[in-house]
Amino acid sequence: MKHNTKNYDYLIVGTGPYGSIFAYEAAKRGKRVLMIDKRDHIGGNMYTRKEQGINVHEYGAHIFHTDNKEVWDYINQFTEFNNYINQVVADYKGERYNLPFNMNTFYQMWGTKTPEEAAAKIAEQREAAGVIAHPKNLEEQAISLIGTDIYEKLIKGYTEKQWGRSATELPSFIIKRLPVRYLYDNNYFNHRYQGVPVNGYTSIFEKMLASDLIDVQLGVNFFADKEAYLAEFPRIIYTGMIDSFFDYIHGELEWRSLHFEHEIHDSNNVQGNAVINYTDAETPYTRVMEWRHFDQNSDEGKSVITKEYPQNWDKTKEAYYPVNDHKNSEIFKLYRKEADKIADKVKFGGRLGNYQYYDMDMVFHAALVDVAKEFKNFDAS
Ligand code: UDP
Repeated sequence: MKHNTKNYDYLIVGTGPYGSIFAYEAAKRGKRVLMIDKRDHIGGNMYTRKEQGINVHEYGAHIFHTDNKEVWDYINQFTEFNNYINQVVADYKGERYNLPFNMNTFYQMWGTKTPEEAAAKIAEQREAAGVIAHPKNLEEQAISLIGTDIYEKLIKGYTEKQWGRSATELPSFIIKRLPVRYLYDNNYFNHRYQGVPVNGYTSIFEKMLASDLIDVQLGVNFFADKEAYLAEFPRIIYTGMIDSFFDYIHGELEWRSLHFEHEIHDSNNVQGNAVINYTDAETPYTRVMEWRHFDQNSDEGKSVITKEYPQNWDKTKEAYYPVNDHKNSEIFKLYRKEADKIADKVKFGGRLGNYQYYDMDMVFHAALVDVAKEFKNFDAS
């Protein structure tokens, strides 16, 4: 017994939302849990830290938004939310536009004032580009949705920087995340509930993992002793990358990575908005966050801004976005089959374990569904 020193019922690999919800729910039912994380902090990519009294989201902007009342009520057990509404501004070579695509954007782009005028303009551009009944890729999807001007200025450069490949080689579902609205409404999300935790995200995880039945070991790599962990623990919840769990037997799944550059400024308002997207192809970063605008709890006179740079992924980099194209989806299916074979022993969860472009609320939902299944017999007795 090297690792399972306390007769733990569960080993949970990864302290992000999936693993932490699982741990919290297991402990609530009297189960003993050991959590390990290779990083030196809990919370996965939701982790936030204080800098100059400001909550900095270490792995990029996290705005919680959902339509799922159960998920919203669940997370609200652990934190209070502020009333932040994401309203992103786009910069294209110095021209400024509101996002997501709405009546303000259309007015700024074309001077159209009514929904009818805007719809006519988009229809005219769609016709000129040749109507596409079944868009095959992101470029076709975007043009059929919003026309060529917006595609060229606000989508193409940003998307190709973010994904590192041509918009004609990307799946169309990525762009479906962004709403198109014939209203003067700059709210980036269509969801009913939205906000940022008033004390940052890390405090949510501290509360979830506070039970005496949960032990957390940081800076510990599962793969340094995988066989021993598998032998010693009756059940493992694994939220790392699924291909690495199976030693890449079916090849590597591709990811897109990011890196962040933080700057501290002697000002309490550098850019006048929480997020500004740089949608041209030349600017090397995709967006700039000014964290004090996500909440107003910072020291006077200082501001922290962060530039987000997309980068190629390799095993030494953090994995952010799964590249869910055909090739990778086929590889993932093979790993899913491997996972099914050991389902009694290991459960795979989270963005990395499921190779899904999950939003936070989707991970919460998935974890709650899986928890209900896991403890079905326990809860019934
Ligand atoms: N997108 C874009 N222009 C923008 C912002 C987003 O074309 O200014 C597209 C782009 O293809 C991107 C997708 O919309 O990959 C989703 O963007 P979102 O901001 O939702 O991505 P996330 O916040 O998850 O990185």
